[in-house]
Amino acid sequence: MASPVWHPYAHLLTQQDAPKVVGGKGPRFVLEDGEALLDATCSWWCMIHGYAHPRLVAAIKEQADTLCHVMLGGLTHDPADRLARELVRVTPPGLEHVFFSDSGSVGMEVAMKMAVQYHHLCDKPGKHRMLSLMKAYHGDTSGCMAVCDPEEGMHSLFSGYLPRHHFAPAPTAPYDAAPDAVEQDLAALRKVLEQHHHEIAALLMEPLLQAAGGLNMTSPLYLKGARELCDEFDVLLVFDEVATGFGRTGKLFAADHAEVTPDIMVLSKGLTGGYLGHAATLATGRVHDAFIGSTPQHAFMHGPTFMGNPLACRVALESLAVFEEENYLEKIARLNRVLYEELLEDPALRGHPRVRDVRVLGATAVIEANDAADLKGVAAFARARGVWLRPFGRWLYTMPAYITSREEMRSITQTMKAWFA
Ligand SMILES: *Cc1c(COP(=O)(O)O)cnc(C)c1O
Repeated sequence: MASPVWHPYAHLLTQQDAPKVVGGKGPRFVLEDGEALLDATCSWWCMIHGYAHPRLVAAIKEQADTLCHVMLGGLTHDPADRLARELVRVTPPGLEHVFFSDSGSVGMEVAMKMAVQYHHLCDKPGKHRMLSLMKAYHGDTSGCMAVCDPEEGMHSLFSGYLPRHHFAPAPTAPYDAAPDAVEQDLAALRKVLEQHHHEIAALLMEPLLQAAGGLNMTSPLYLKGARELCDEFDVLLVFDEVATGFGRTGKLFAADHAEVTPDIMVLSKGLTGGYLGHAATLATGRVHDAFIGSTPQHAFMHGPTFMGNPLACRVALESLAVFEEENYLEKIARLNRVLYEELLEDPALRGHPRVRDVRVLGATAVIEANDAADLKGVAAFARARGVWLRPFGRWLYTMPAYITSREEMRSITQTMKAWFA
């Protein structure tokens, strides 16, 4: 009998039987027949330490012996308290309060509710819409779908059901763009803010790297400019660092490239090293303090059952400790050099007629094909070479685990290039 498991984003008529994973070690997972695949995507970008990392596994086991779960409503525990302090320590200065939840989408829902309630409490109840960017992806729940790219995104069929927000054009200036190129992107953002700021609570963005919307990369100057515009128009700046957080762009957070502190920042994917689902929504003192007051409306009405789960917090603490003790930023820089040399500096690839663009940032690289059809069959092609690639649309990308060796990184890039050769 076919499995009753309903797979994500799957087209039921054409989907193939999913290979069964029985384990994994380092950057590879292992299938039931013993086949080991080098994971070029580290499981939707979250398994940053790879599979079966001994310290992370030990942390979960140790915590399981002590306390697997307890509600955070009216109670607290060491792992939640310590993780909150650590997140405040490592994130940009000014982010001082941490609201836990169980997934990236919910972390973004929390951010949006927080922003709307903040303005309500500041006597600006008219500021109740979001400003998002084209090509954005912020999650699959209803609130998040409403701030994903409304045209190219995968949620357009739900448009009748979703609340309406504002959208500014996606930035087009690349990472190393000159200031005047970035000015054009910022002018487009300013235009929407000038028109609609009176009803905009927050500007949402995936800083530097719009991930699921096509690995669209932009300049740190765009983040700086967005910060200034938000201050000018009394709009909160929300950084969705669910994908970019924990080293993906080459610094611990994308915000660090621009030395910008957003008012609210959301972390998930890499937070627990991928070992358990969890998220954190961080807020500045200014946002938090607006909630200090005596009316019933001052309470922030949100509380996921599993927020601050001790197992998740404990493994997140271990993940961060390993990241810092083993100098992961240096590992990421090494991977980045391989991606540069192998992909960006390969004239045959960049000049290939089916390749529209090649982009690299931190431990992220994408070959953008001209057409989604150009990538049909690439997953099976890679699997035959021992590599797990899962492209979407016309984007063939890698976001490897940071413990991937240079040789392994090369075997991923060579597989990607071989497809076009
Ligand atoms: C994956 C992702 C989300 C959603 O996180 P889930 O844990 O899948 O709900 C939100 N924002 C960004 C930028 C993401 O990459």
